[in-house]
Amino acid sequence: MTVAATSSMVDWLRESETKEYGNFINGEWVKSSSGKTFPIYNSAKNNQLLGTFQDSVENDVNQAVEAANEAFKSWSKLPGPDRGAILFRLADLLEKNVEELAYMLSAEQGKTLAESKGEVYRAAKEARFCGGEAFRIEGSTLPGERSNVWSSTIRKPIGVIAAIAPWNFPVVTPVRKIAPALAYGCTVVYKPASVTPWTSVKLMELLAEAGVPNGVVNLVVGSGSKVGDPLVNHPLVKGISFTGSSNLGLEINQKAAGRLAKTQLELGGKNPAVVLDYTDPAAVAKQIVSAAFAASGQRCTSISRVIVVKEKREELTEALLQEIMKIKVGSAWESDATMGPLINKRHLDSVQEYIKVGLEEGARLRFGGEVLTEGEFSEGAFMKPALLDLVTPEMRVAKEEIFGPVLCVIEVENKTEALEVANNVEYGLAASIFTDKVSSAYQFAEDVEAGMVHINHGTASAAHAPFGGVKQSGAGAFSIGNSNVEFFTDLKVIYFEY
Ligand code: NDP
Repeated sequence: MTVAATSSMVDWLRESETKEYGNFINGEWVKSSSGKTFPIYNSAKNNQLLGTFQDSVENDVNQAVEAANEAFKSWSKLPGPDRGAILFRLADLLEKNVEELAYMLSAEQGKTLAESKGEVYRAAKEARFCGGEAFRIEGSTLPGERSNVWSSTIRKPIGVIAAIAPWNFPVVTPVRKIAPALAYGCTVVYKPASVTPWTSVKLMELLAEAGVPNGVVNLVVGSGSKVGDPLVNHPLVKGISFTGSSNLGLEINQKAAGRLAKTQLELGGKNPAVVLDYTDPAAVAKQIVSAAFAASGQRCTSISRVIVVKEKREELTEALLQEIMKIKVGSAWESDATMGPLINKRHLDSVQEYIKVGLEEGARLRFGGEVLTEGEFSEGAFMKPALLDLVTPEMRVAKEEIFGPVLCVIEVENKTEALEVANNVEYGLAASIFTDKVSSAYQFAEDVEAGMVHINHGTASAAHAPFGGVKQSGAGAFSIGNSNVEFFTDLKVIYFEY
């Protein structure tokens, strides 16, 4: 499947319409034993079919896990540098195929082409970082308690990993799970979100082309109940790397704990941007708006609450409005669009419901929020980005994850109250602070309940720094950086007498 240089995007998407995509098990494209498939449509043009996918069941999961378990025997013995070399090739291939992957990603998920390309390049960076990590699986050496004895620690891969991802970043999230698994010597069964399985097909092709042996990475497409649940419960699955909603993360954690399987959970967020005495409101607004509305606000690390001291509120709100008005809503294929549709109508309804609840609770809609239905907008889940002000900390819109393009402004008296409000939610993923005072910045970084803190910087993360949250936002080892070693490997201590 390639995008011919001469064919238009529309022709290329049309070609895919008639295709049935299989599961990828033990290096083969296979149909589900259910005999059933389900369709996927273009996110910005709901009547355009992108292809049909396997509606898999437990039997398919079992086959994939068994293949991964068999492949683990040889993959885990391959020297780390050899595994790393495959990941470097994968990174190169992701970059080489950026156009095609970005088209597929925009079609199934809706984000703009620029955002999709950014996601593919980011996936390549993370794969490359993991390739390097495969050279650095370190242990320690300790003196013995007796003469002629020394001891050392080594790291051993844990086995088969279940990788389960949501729909908002269908390229980088699987790479974020698969690449470190491979680096440390684990094998994988991957279940994408049901609404975004298309790019996973291409990802499997690239993994095979990079030299990943049969069975090392397997793809099973299907629903959470028929694929996700048996995968989580499979006795040969030793670790579950899950990204998704907090409720589901808690459920998965309980099931895994029942048989002492490890978990790495990346869950929801309600991320604050605290604004104190920063002198350039336009610069702050630029950072906040970019972090709030990228991917149509459907990012776990989206800024969704601006907590601003009273004397700065009006000035900052004006600056936010100026910046939000620059957002151009449109489909991915429009070159000047900066915000695509939401993933689907159901999710749009949920975001709209939150705006309604906010208004009923006493918030004021300062900008946007309306559903767009005219012309090209009629075929997707489009809405204008929304700014709510007069939001108070106890309102539902201030506490619950909306996961859409809605930014809430909350006024506070001072920095002490700002910190209290920032921490007054069940989540603890990312947090930003904008201040000219070094002491305020450090105090906030120490005291805010978040896994990642950004000082005078939006909530965008790096491809090599640990990524994760506290409270209901996550549990287990942080992903992306070298913290992954804690999840994908077990420690072993060796005593040696000579
Ligand atoms: P969900 O929690 O609904 O789904 C996530 C994945 O879990 C999907 O693949 C889903 O499958 C699968 N799943 C559903 N039921 C089960 C089950 N019983 N057992 C195992 N797997 C199951 O999340 P969304 O897809 O709606 O994504 C949005 C959420 O993800 C938000 O809360 C967001 O904050 C969070 N997120 C967190 C990130 C982080 O790094 N902290 C990053 C990105 C998103 P199916 O699609 O078939 O339902």
